[in-house]
Amino acid sequence: MSLYLDIGVVRIQSWLSRAPHLRGRRGASAMIRKATGPAAIDELLTGWQDIVKRCTEAGHVDGVVPLVMRSEEPEAVSRVEDHVTTHLRSLLPGASLRTKLRAGKDWLEAQNGPLRAEHEWPAVVAEWPPGKQCDWCRTWPASRQRMVGAKEKRELKSLCPDCLLREDHAGYSTSRRQEMAPGTERDLLKGWENRPPQRPMAVPDTSQVLAELGERRDNTHLATVYADGNAIGGLGDEVREAQDRGRGTTFKLPASIEHATWSALLDAVETITDDDATMLPVIAHLVGGDDVLVSVPAHRAWAFAHTLQTRFSEYLGARLAEADLAGITTPTISTGVVFHHHKSPLSSAIDLAEEHLKRAKKEHRGLTAALAWQDVTHDGPLPVHDRPSVSVKDLAASWPELSRLADCGGSARANLAALARDGGHAELMRHAKRIGLDELVRRLIDGPVSLEHAVGMTRWWRTA
Ligand SMILES: [Zn+2]
Repeated sequence: MSLYLDIGVVRIQSWLSRAPHLRGRRGASAMIRKATGPAAIDELLTGWQDIVKRCTEAGHVDGVVPLVMRSEEPEAVSRVEDHVTTHLRSLLPGASLRTKLRAGKDWLEAQNGPLRAEHEWPAVVAEWPPGKQCDWCRTWPASRQRMVGAKEKRELKSLCPDCLLREDHAGYSTSRRQEMAPGTERDLLKGWENRPPQRPMAVPDTSQVLAELGERRDNTHLATVYADGNAIGGLGDEVREAQDRGRGTTFKLPASIEHATWSALLDAVETITDDDATMLPVIAHLVGGDDVLVSVPAHRAWAFAHTLQTRFSEYLGARLAEADLAGITTPTISTGVVFHHHKSPLSSAIDLAEEHLKRAKKEHRGLTAALAWQDVTHDGPLPVHDRPSVSVKDLAASWPELSRLADCGGSARANLAALARDGGHAELMRHAKRIGLDELVRRLIDGPVSLEHAVGMTRWWRTA
């Protein structure tokens, strides 16, 4: 039996997105890697070998420091907590931290076992005296003024200690891998360049540039997609039971999840990238474990989410089968998708996407890959609760009809939606027949996605 101590950033996506622009988030991504990356933690624990070591079984997830105790003395645990949180708090002053202590004969067992102890550390910045609000995050008091921004946009800003560090770590304004600080976006470019045809790419430097990579005459909107695996804890339990009986001992859970997540993400990016593109149409905010948080041009979101969700289970299922664990149910991944103008605050889009992700999981009880969505421009910013989430299977089954519907003009779709909502069936069908869409409308009515929702979904649908 060993003690496992996880020290992590609380709600990392909200901390990352606190800066209003990509530069601040890029800086945050580099800071988190610098603070929690395996090399940094190994260095931090030099001289502590007899008490604690980094838990290599857990793999690496940005924002989490997994440790295994070599001493079970409560006093040793609290010294380690202090040592590691002091390090994290100095590098991430605006982030809240949480430590969790569990026990098990290995990491997997400990992960699925009860919590022995849990502690929270508020952000260091929260302890600073109040003052003028930071111009970037508008959360913490500013401590210093600094010239920020490129060339003609350079201006004096009052920043908090957290945002000053973001600025320090953002690197040059660059979108190429070679000049980029280690972080999620660099991992994405590296992953892309490593797969055939090994074509080097850049990534967008601003939300506007990303939006402009979308449809030529309709390129102001983005979709922020938040995905998270379903029932990964249950998979851990099943794998451990099988391994206790001597089966599937080559299966490594964290490595397999990471492989499935990254491979599915790269497939999804490939699906939405044109052959002649020189820039990937994606901004990757966070990729860690079974979590994916990205923004893509609005019209590419459906194909992106569909590929990501389908492939995740395929890759994970293949790994299970290779390890002779084909009998185990393969977990799925669900998503929340929020369509929004590129100028609207990303942090709100992320919060809303998280809410829809939770709803998709809840409505399908985490048993199947599902997707819930909202269009902030048309639905407004408050969460829409009465639109049922759609399973990825139903999305795939309705794909031909949705594509057909997307080909119809916007006003034809709006009329159909109004009749579907308020008119009788006969009136709807008469109208559909008049405009030559009666067969399509009938198929949609008989299908799993209601006509009204189909019209909303195809507002942002890539047509040929
Ligand atoms: Zn700030």
